[in-house]
Amino acid sequence: METLEFQSEARQLLQLMIHSIYSNKDTFLRELVSNASDALDKLRLESFRDKDMRVDVDDLHVVIESDPAERTLTVRDNGIGMTREDVVRLIGTIAKSGTAEFLKQLKEQQSGSTSDLIGQFGIGFYSSFMVADKVTLVTKYPHSEKGVRWESSGEATYTIDDVDDAPQGTSVTLHLKPSDDEDRLPDYTEPAKIKEIVKRYSDFITWPVRLGGEEINSRKALWARPASEVTEEEYAEFYRHISHDWNAPLETIRMQAEGTFEYQALLFLPAQAPMDLFMRDGKRGVQLYVKRVFIMEDCAELMPEYLRFVKGVVDAADLSLNVSREILQQDRQIQLMRRRLVKKVLSSIKSLQSSRPDDYAKLWGEVGAALKEGLLSDSDNRDAILEVCSFASTQAEGTLTTLAEYVGRMKEGQEHIYFMTGDSRVAVEKSPHLEALRAKGFEVLILTDTIDEMWVDSVPAFDGRTFQSVAKGQVDLETDEEKSANEAKAAEYSDLLTWMKEQLEDSVKEVRLSSRLTTSPACVVGDSFDITPTLEKMYKAMGQ
Ligand code: ADP
Ligand code: MG
Repeated sequence: METLEFQSEARQLLQLMIHSIYSNKDTFLRELVSNASDALDKLRLESFRDKDMRVDVDDLHVVIESDPAERTLTVRDNGIGMTREDVVRLIGTIAKSGTAEFLKQLKEQQSGSTSDLIGQFGIGFYSSFMVADKVTLVTKYPHSEKGVRWESSGEATYTIDDVDDAPQGTSVTLHLKPSDDEDRLPDYTEPAKIKEIVKRYSDFITWPVRLGGEEINSRKALWARPASEVTEEEYAEFYRHISHDWNAPLETIRMQAEGTFEYQALLFLPAQAPMDLFMRDGKRGVQLYVKRVFIMEDCAELMPEYLRFVKGVVDAADLSLNVSREILQQDRQIQLMRRRLVKKVLSSIKSLQSSRPDDYAKLWGEVGAALKEGLLSDSDNRDAILEVCSFASTQAEGTLTTLAEYVGRMKEGQEHIYFMTGDSRVAVEKSPHLEALRAKGFEVLILTDTIDEMWVDSVPAFDGRTFQSVAKGQVDLETDEEKSANEAKAAEYSDLLTWMKEQLEDSVKEVRLSSRLTTSPACVVGDSFDITPTLEKMYKAMGQ
């Protein structure tokens, strides 16, 4: 037997669980059943691919057993199991991207609202320690000769040991905290209590969940049930199961296509951005099923990267269970389906915008920066994306404006949509570039996301109005009279301008009189095709 130490981040999370800040402790069972269900999905999939695997997949299931005398509760599955290395890596460490960030936020937070953060993170297996003072896990992977026993009381260390006669799959046994514990936990060995929790949180799990020989979940795929019969709470629980987000979704989207290529989709928009939204190895959120059978998660062929915050399930009737990513990439039906899914998501965001503006604003605040990536990568849907974007502007502080609203406020004679990019609203507002537009009463969009620097160069126009940076080239704001007056002035000062240009030869391309300044004496502007200062900084930071 070996004694190993938890990775320090894992230790911190365990402490969090033991001194449980999360009030809804029943959810530990949801996490264990969810893991068992994932393990059964994986085994079935593996058995399709690997015909030599000698495992029995005829009766895949989850069993819950309780022992009131011993105060134990066991969740057992005959799924894929884990190797010894898996156990050390998956249970002993936390490899999830965003863990460090999560823990940092948690430290900064006052204790009251930490459960929101927990919700964002999804604690999974460790939630066992909310109700147990010792957890024993026994598991066997089909290709391993021996099984593994893992045990811990959630303190600094765990033990790990070989087991000769472990059955296929995984069992997790919770040694429940004493009944007189100050937490006053319900009696989780009580069958009625177990049933109630499974019904509430795990009813849709596609595998049978058994208790005392009885099957206690109805196993109905939500996306296959009539929309009128499914409650919001059921959607929310399903969303939690697939997204590992503990919050309810902001919006639920259902889609159904019949005919030559049948499929059903159940998609969700999050109320909070996934932790890994802007991380390199971040996941996409749509799972592929074929006729109710789970095939793969993180299906890039179904949802473009800029919509990676959309979670859900697509169940296609006419694919083979053996379908691979390579096949999906070439399948025309899949491409058509993806196109329709994208349009549906964008139109759902659009209707949120008009029917529930507060929810739209929340969504935009959480995922807008990701959505804007689509302006670069998805030219087919560019207009639809522009319609659901909102931006800060000189017009209003604290609220954002859509482009349609901006265009509605455009002044007589204003041809362009003016914008300025920069690090922050404050920096942009201080810029002398804004002066002339302010003087004219023209509204300027204030773009401060990194992605803004990139899309403004490749998106030609919105509603026939081109985008014009106020920091670049000649901003054409003059009337004809002003123009000729300025030309006369330029002629008058031409000697001075030529002299200044010679003096500044190494630093600037040209020196000219400006009509854009009203209070500042001079400013440096980029040429129309130059990169912006922020972009220049970005390139420098990347070492280019
Ligand atoms: P998550 O489910 O979000 O990945 P968990 O903490 O719930 O996080 O589980 C961590 C990992 O441990 C899982 O991803 C899985 O690889 C493994 N695991 C947990 N429970 C089981 C199980 N019953 N069978 C096989 N693997 C499991
Ligand atoms: Mg889990």
